[in-house]
Amino acid sequence: MRSHLLNDTTAEQYRRSVTQGVERVAAKLATTDRPFTGVTVDALAPLIDAVDLDRPLGDTTAALDELEDVYLRDAIYFHHPRYLAHLNCPVVIPAVLGEAVLSAVNSSLDTWDQSAGGTLIERKLIDWTTRRIGLGPAADGVFTSGGTQSNLQALLLAREEAKPGRDGRADLTKLRVFASEVSHFSVKKSAKLLGLGPDAVVSIPVDHDKRLQTVALAHELARCTEAGLVPMAVVATAGTTDFGSIDPLPEIAELCQRYGAWMHVDAAYGCGLLASLKYRDRIDGIERADSVTVDYHKSFFQPVSSSAVLVRDAATLRHATYHAEYLNPRRMVEERIPNQVDKSLQTTRRFDALKLWMTLRVMGADGIGQLFDEVCDLAAEGWKLLAADPRYDVVVEPSLSTLVFRYVPASVTDPAEIDRANLYARKALFASGDAVVAGTKVAGRHYLKFTLLNPETTTADISAVLDLIAGHAEQYLGESLDRAC
Ligand SMILES: *Cc1c(COP(=O)(O)O)cnc(C)c1O
Repeated sequence: MRSHLLNDTTAEQYRRSVTQGVERVAAKLATTDRPFTGVTVDALAPLIDAVDLDRPLGDTTAALDELEDVYLRDAIYFHHPRYLAHLNCPVVIPAVLGEAVLSAVNSSLDTWDQSAGGTLIERKLIDWTTRRIGLGPAADGVFTSGGTQSNLQALLLAREEAKPGRDGRADLTKLRVFASEVSHFSVKKSAKLLGLGPDAVVSIPVDHDKRLQTVALAHELARCTEAGLVPMAVVATAGTTDFGSIDPLPEIAELCQRYGAWMHVDAAYGCGLLASLKYRDRIDGIERADSVTVDYHKSFFQPVSSSAVLVRDAATLRHATYHAEYLNPRRMVEERIPNQVDKSLQTTRRFDALKLWMTLRVMGADGIGQLFDEVCDLAAEGWKLLAADPRYDVVVEPSLSTLVFRYVPASVTDPAEIDRANLYARKALFASGDAVVAGTKVAGRHYLKFTLLNPETTTADISAVLDLIAGHAEQYLGESLDRAC
């Protein structure tokens, strides 16, 4: 069994095994003609059920052959230009190379004595990101597992910084977090995890462009303050998950300052603009945040996971600091040994930063920004197509790379029937594997969604997928008419 341990005597087996895996994936990428095979749960589950985990195959080739059946053949492929659904991106090769290196070396970023240079590389990327945001000289941050964790940590810091009550402790039931009605659900989840009351998150309406209405925010802040409640934080979203809309950051910053509320910017999606050559100004005002969430695994073309939380004032990270004698004793702070666990909610932690490092060293930030600009431009073109297409109703002109629309045949007036046709079209398209699109609800009605993150997708792909959707929806409506007769 020792032949499976990665060490000095097994270098050849390591090279051979990993190369075999790389060859399989490369072959897959070269031959995938659809983003998905359309396999059903019922068809796939028995194959996985049939694997006896207590009877190993003992051989890499055999395990890879089996993997073909249980995973590779039917996986969802994000590199395919007709994958248009969720905020999960095609990945750049330097980052995949970084992934291979970091898992082989297996650094753990909690302590210097488990990573050495990895710690410094992560710190340099954090500094690079805070400079791009413009958070100032005292800024800091840490890599996290994703936007959900970044938002949780940011709100933990905000909670701890919220003005304490007379007994020296904040009354958690009095704390309020303000976020738009289309902010990410992790805001509410975080509030629950942080022990805030069930009414802690105040939902602020959005305008026609799905941006938080600052007049309504000002009103709610005033109302809560008058009622003796504490405005703990405002979460501004820079790129909503559903629409890519960007809340008015400068106006929100003004209100946060006036009410002493922590300003958190959830830029999980919009962070790609930090590298943009054309559209950086769309997130102007982000530099006034107290904390920022970025998901490099959404708009920097990085493999999952790669995310960070950044803060204006490094000192606030102390709220996540605990010392353990075995790991990061207090004396190490005096000895100036950089233990990243002092800033993190995680202990053992992947060296995800290496992927971004390799990306910046090979391609540079402009390379990433250019790719993200291309998908933003593609969305603008797609919007024009949809706006000119009488079959479709399209919701907001994109600020990033998302399009939300709905098939609305002139012949059908019942909105519930139109809902069903759109739902059916999404499902039928998924089952065909020809394309994958997402869906959401707008004002109670079912809509479809393209999240465009692949610069290889063309307007011709968009047109073709719109025709496919219309075809499926028409088929549904035709059959529904037959049923009625
Ligand atoms: C995706 C997303 C999140 C959650 O990030 P994960 O990396 O999926 O945990 C949070 N906020 C916004 C706006 C997002 O789009």
